[in-house]
Amino acid sequence: MTIPIADPGASYRRFAEEIDEAVLSVLKRGWYILGSECEKFERAFADYCGVAYAVGVANGTDAVELALRALGVVHGDKVVTVANTAVATVAAIERIGACPVFVDVDPFSQTLSPEALQNYLRTNSAGVKAVVAVHLFGSLCDMPSILEVAERYGVRVVEDCAQAHGAEVSGRRAGCWGAVGAFSFYPTKNLGAFGDGGAVVTHDPALAERVRMLRQYGWRQRYVSDIVGLNSRLDEIQAAILTVKLKALDEDNMRRRTIAERYRAKLQALPVVLPGDPPGGKHVYHQYVVQCGGRRDELGRYLRQHEIGTAVLYPIPIHQQPAYAERFAGVSLPVTEKLARTILCLPIYPELTDEAVDGVAEAINRFYAK
Ligand SMILES: *Cc1c(COP(=O)(O)O)cnc(C)c1O
Repeated sequence: MTIPIADPGASYRRFAEEIDEAVLSVLKRGWYILGSECEKFERAFADYCGVAYAVGVANGTDAVELALRALGVVHGDKVVTVANTAVATVAAIERIGACPVFVDVDPFSQTLSPEALQNYLRTNSAGVKAVVAVHLFGSLCDMPSILEVAERYGVRVVEDCAQAHGAEVSGRRAGCWGAVGAFSFYPTKNLGAFGDGGAVVTHDPALAERVRMLRQYGWRQRYVSDIVGLNSRLDEIQAAILTVKLKALDEDNMRRRTIAERYRAKLQALPVVLPGDPPGGKHVYHQYVVQCGGRRDELGRYLRQHEIGTAVLYPIPIHQQPAYAERFAGVSLPVTEKLARTILCLPIYPELTDEAVDGVAEAINRFYAK
């Protein structure tokens, strides 16, 4: 039995009939970009997240960029974030000409440490316009603490929700905590299109309006650019697909949680640190990430030999990536750097069978029994 680390095709097969119909109806209607399907999805997704507005954009990287631009982040501003994230988070900051500043993470949640943020801002808040809090692997950052610190220093908070569709704490979902939330619908995300897609969500009508303008050349009225914008639009086919799949998102997230419980039951006796819910909240397990100490690479190889896919998200923190290392040579993030050496992602997606989960768990048990 081969078990891949992700299987977006399985998600298509599960909804094939409804998706084929939705796509065909868009093709026949003859309106392909920013139309009624996009509006329908934006309404449904805003309701799902518990915010007033959602604005469809071309991908998650653009969503982060447009969120920051809408908040007024410009060339030369500093934006605080973490180094254990998709390089997209940092690429979005730099495309504005803003300067990313990295702070360390909490060793268990692996997300932005409010203490590290406080320590940075206490002495360096000048020039810091925003914080991008990344809800890594499907679990929310400690948003109450992060918001409190940010407010103290007059810094706005963007949530990078690309891995956390539907994740919640105290019944409040990803995207409704900060000033703005940025989502990706890359095919393997918890809510995935069959192409690129993204969304920016917010409670604030003025910010929503600004993102709407930014995503299409700064237009409020067609062919009249009131501000300098760009092109970042959600197409009608992806929007129609997302509307179909959004209806199953809660059920899909529940299945991911059931798989996580199954892994926990079968791995808890091993010398590994397993992920779990944040206090008062629900993890949606975009990734199931175990901390497995010094034998990480050996375990990954062993599983690969048994046709089980694994991944490391992320093997190199951003400040040590070849493209960034020179500029961030002075940066030291001990927790982030240690996690990069010890974490391993196991297969998790709604279509993964119990049998496959057991197969992965048994292989890991065999490895540690060796
Ligand atoms: C996937 C991802 C993005 C980027 O999304 P794209 O749609 O690929 O541009 C940004 N941030 C995080 C944390 C991600 O996982």
